Amino acid sequence: MKRDDLTGLASGGNKVRKLEHLIQDALSKKADVVLTPGAQQSNHCRQTAAACAITGLECHLLLGGTEPEIANGNLLLNKFLGANIHFTGPERKGESLLRIATELKDAGRRPYIIPLGGSNAIGARGFVDAVGEVKVQLENLSLSFDRIIFASSSGGTQAGLMVGTRIHNLRSQILGIAIDKGGIGNRPFRDHIADIIGEMKSFHPVAGEISVDSIELNNDYVGSGYGVVSDAEREAISLVASTEGVLLDPVYTGRAMAGVIDMIRKGDIKGNEKILFWHTGGTPALFAYAADL
Ligand SMILES: *Cc1c(COP(=O)(O)O)cnc(C)c1O
Repeated sequence: MKRDDLTGLASGGNKVRKLEHLIQDALSKKADVVLTPGAQQSNHCRQTAAACAITGLECHLLLGGTEPEIANGNLLLNKFLGANIHFTGPERKGESLLRIATELKDAGRRPYIIPLGGSNAIGARGFVDAVGEVKVQLENLSLSFDRIIFASSSGGTQAGLMVGTRIHNLRSQILGIAIDKGGIGNRPFRDHIADIIGEMKSFHPVAGEISVDSIELNNDYVGSGYGVVSDAEREAISLVASTEGVLLDPVYTGRAMAGVIDMIRKGDIKGNEKILFWHTGGTPALFAYAADL
């Protein structure tokens, strides 16, 4: 297991890797305020709020839904991290970004927009770096993996891992477990990942060699949709906690691990296959979903 739940920034997660590049870009463009959207329990938004806190940028989070009576999980942490929260009703994928950015501009501010999940070519570079990191770790441990499996939702992790494995010549299949039923914007999810890979050509020309057909995405585990917890996630969370002492989350890593468990049971993952499960974080959401667990 690759422990991106331990990356730091107010309880960790995979977005830290993207934010290294995104916040650097914001600072180099002399932005003074950062905007990013997400679901109410978005780990990406909480990590963005933390990254803004340590770099002195004002942070605006556009979160779906309406303000709950009691803030819990990531939402609670956002309060401590000093983020300005806009509740955007049914819009949890950034539909109101431009409107709020324009309001800030009209007030004389210099806004920097981070897209859903930090998933663009700049953010995804963090996962090219991540493959380099893993490559060194595998060499030091004399290990190799047939597949790298992880929760895939806004596409930056998968795009970065796919480009990174080519750059660092790591021969593992990259398999995303889709978390969400819908696409992003008006694009189906696989095409959205391909779009990010396409944009990465400007940093990494080898990205141009990756075809949309080579993007491996398993859509079997989306269940009743984003954040709807079922027995499969409950089983995965309990099994991994009680046997490994590792906490998964109900939305992403619990669902991805439930997929891995099911693939093993069905024989889609064979006994001799070596799997690296990329733990992408999400621990604070565990508490917010207490009633469903
Ligand atoms: C954002 C997130 C993911 C998905 O990563 P993407 O790059 O958005 O596909 C997976 N797990 C957790 C815990 C996340 O917060």
